[in-house]
Parts: sequence; structure tokens; C-alpha cells
Amino acid sequence: MNEQVHIIGGGISGLIAARVLEDHGLSPIIIEASDRVGGRLRTDKIDGHLLDHGFQVLLTAYPSLKKYLDLEALHLTKFLPGSIIFHQGKKSLLGDASRNSKFLWPTMRSNAATLSDKLKVWKLNKELQAKPLDRIFSEPEVTTLEYLQKKGFSTRIIERFFRPFYSGIFLENELSTSSRMFEFVFKMFAQGSASLPYDGIEAIPRQLQDRLKRTSFHFNKPIAEIREHEIEFKSGEVIAREYLINATNDPMLHSRNAPSAAPRHWKSCQTLYFKSSGRVIHQPIIGLIAFKDALINNICYSSRLYPHPDGEEMLSVTVVKEHHLGQDQLVKQVIKELREHCGIDTDIEFTKLYDIPQALPELNNLQYDLKPGSTQLDSHTFLTGDTMLNASLNGAMLAGEQAALDVLKAIQEKDLQ
Ligand SMILES: Cc1cc2nc3c(=O)[nH]c(=O)nc-3n(C[C@H](O)[C@H](O)[C@H](O)COP(=O)(O)OP(=O)(O)OC[C@H]3O[C@@H](n4cnc5c(N)ncnc54)[C@H](O)[C@@H]3O)c2cc1C
Repeated sequence: MNEQVHIIGGGISGLIAARVLEDHGLSPIIIEASDRVGGRLRTDKIDGHLLDHGFQVLLTAYPSLKKYLDLEALHLTKFLPGSIIFHQGKKSLLGDASRNSKFLWPTMRSNAATLSDKLKVWKLNKELQAKPLDRIFSEPEVTTLEYLQKKGFSTRIIERFFRPFYSGIFLENELSTSSRMFEFVFKMFAQGSASLPYDGIEAIPRQLQDRLKRTSFHFNKPIAEIREHEIEFKSGEVIAREYLINATNDPMLHSRNAPSAAPRHWKSCQTLYFKSSGRVIHQPIIGLIAFKDALINNICYSSRLYPHPDGEEMLSVTVVKEHHLGQDQLVKQVIKELREHCGIDTDIEFTKLYDIPQALPELNNLQYDLKPGSTQLDSHTFLTGDTMLNASLNGAMLAGEQAALDVLKAIQEKDLQ
């Protein structure tokens, strides 16, 4: 096949689309607005520390990973299957004792949940491990909060564990995200490990890029408009195009046929990094702030995942709630809360703030995968991205795959005409 396929956007969906097209003999062209691939997966190196743009994790149980990533080559560091909960100046641990026997006693003793809650978590774990993904994504959606209440969880475990833990994943504090996403994420956590590549989250798209041998890349080339037979760059340059996959998550780039289901709202978050002279958590495990008025949602010593050559510590702090503080006030407030809620009284030095206004799309009717043909806008234009399914790396991969398969089918059908 020698049809020309442009892929606009070099995030995970665009890279997977290129992978699938290459596997079928095509040589796609990726056009990317920024200076590199990865989209929302970015890592900076500052003073020997790796700083991800926003705290995120790779869940090794995601089914599409095995197909597209060499996990071994990513040298994953795994988080321990639990959380340290900071509540009223004290810390306790809630963990999955079935996977780490050392967690049994501290989890039994933790007062972040009642005994009945702990049994319910165990039961839910069993139930969701056995529940197929297609059933999870076909059941009626309620909010995560309603779901937890219906399951009979106490306010104590909801406020001290579920709310801070899932706020850090859903990037919203109300637990208004669909129960389908809750079940999916819970299942993925239970079946695998939350992990991070040794070289930072950006190692994932870098690996995908390195394995593409027939794809060409054009960076720093933002597209202004996608027309029926041409693409206009923001620079004013116009080029002809044939098949095209829009992997930007911005359907409004299309001069026509823009789908009405475009996400209107995005969830935002902020991640602050602090160099720290000591640490209050000694293992690769997430810390949750169980205090409803706190701005900080969760913390993690990223240096436990990405060791610094001189052993320096780096603390990552995630803020999900909306506020009106400028950077200086925010840093002051976060330091105050770290002291009050986490007992961090050692020296910490603010290093970097990442503001991420478009972190996760707000989506309804979440799907696990796409039906064949559903990415197609017209005979030669296709749309992909995590916004088509659910906001996750797995969703982005599956959406990219389906868009490429739809392109291949359209090419075959045209050849038959
Ligand atoms: C803070 C944060 C935490 C997250 N946590 C997790 C997590 O723990 N686990 C998980 O599975 N997922 C998580 N996610 C979600 C995951 O990162 C996304 O689902 C995934 O990266 C989306 O990939 P994508 O290719 O669909 O979109 P994107 O990564 O957004 O890629 C779109 C690409 O298009 C480019 N582009 C945009 N406009 C144009 C234009 N006009 N012209 C040319 N190029 C353009 C962009 O520069 C970008 O490279 C998180 C995301 C964030 C931001």
C-alpha cells in the first residue's frame, strides 16, 4: 500500500495509529504541534531529577500494553499496593494484604476504615476481578460516590480513602466520575501494579516512537484547520492531504463534519515539586491527605521511583481542587499543609509547578473500545484520542488502534471499487 496517511498529533493515540499503519505496510506522517511526541506524557530533567508533567501512573494490567509496549525495556518501578493516609496529624496504611503480606497487620489496625469496610473492599476486589470489561462498560452509569454508597461503604472510608485516592485519578473532588471508570480502574489496580518507567513517564511515547521505522515526524507544526483535501498550518502554509487521522482530541479543527460529541470540558490539576531534605514516606507508595478542606490531594516522593544520582529527595504534590491562589500563595499554602497534615517539618525547597488545564476530558457514556467504523468522519478522515473512549492510556491506545484499522478498511474498500 502506498496511500498517504497524515496523523495530526503525536500523543499515545497518534503513535499507536502509526504503529498499526506501519504493521500493514504504510508509511504515515505524524504532524505534531509541540517539539516532541508524547502529548500529555512529558518528563523534564531538572538538577538531575525527573519531573513528570502531572502525577500519573502506568497500570500494568491495561490489556493493550502487552500488545504495544516492551514493559521490560521500560524498567518499571512498581508502587506498593496501598496508600499512606494522613488524617488529623497521624498516618496509617491501607493496603492490599493479598499481594503484600506485610500490609495485613497495619491494614487491620488502620482506623481509616471500619472492619466492615475492609471486608467490603475484599469482596469488591473479588467481584471486579471476575467481572469482564465489556460488562463493566455496559452497565448503567452512576457517579462513583453513589456507587460506593450503594455498596454500603461507610463515610469514614469514603472520606479517608476513596475520595482522596480517586480524586487523584479522576482529577475531580466530587467523585462524580462514572462508576464504569471506577470499576475499570479498581480492577486494573487489583490485577496489576501501578508503576512508572525508570526514565520517567515520557519513556512510554519515546519507546513507541523509537520502534516506528517508516513513520516520518514533523514537530513544531501546529495545524489550524483540516479541510476536505488540504491541511492548513497555523503558519499559513497549506498542504494537500489524502487520508487523515486527527489524533489531537480537538475535533473543532475540522472545517466540516466536526462531531457534536466533542468534549466541552476538561479537568485540570496542578503538580508541585519540592526538593526535600528528608522524607515522611520511605517506600514507593502514594500518600493521601484525608482532610476535606486541604488543597493538597496526594503526595509521592518521586525520588523513590526515579532515584537521584546523589540521593536527593524530590516530593511531588498534586492539587486537584479549584482555587484562586497565585503561584507564590499556592506554594506557601502547600508548604503549610505539608507541615500540618503530613508532619513534613524538614527543609523543603520549591522547584517547579506544572499547571495542567487540559488534563482529562469530562466524558459521559464511557466505553471500553470502539466499534469498527466509529472513528470515520468521511471517506478519508478519521478521529481518535482518549476522548473517544475513556481518559486513560489504555483508552488512548485502543482509540488509536481503531482509527488505523478504519483507515485500512477505507483504503481496501476504495481499492475494490
Ligand atoms: C495529570 C495527568 C494525569 C493522568 N493520569 C493518568 C493515569 O494515571 N493513568 C492513565 O492511564 N492515564 C492518565 N492520564 C491520561 C493519559 O495521559 C491520556 O489519556 C493520554 O495520554 C491521552 O493520549 P492522546 O494521544 O489521546 O492525547 P494527547 O496526549 O493529548 O495527544 C494529543 C497530541 O496532539 C497534539 N496537538 C494538539 N493540537 C494540535 C494541533 N492543532 N496541531 C498539531 N498537533 C496538535 C498535542 O500536542 C499532543 O501531542 C493522565 C493525564 C494527565 C494530564
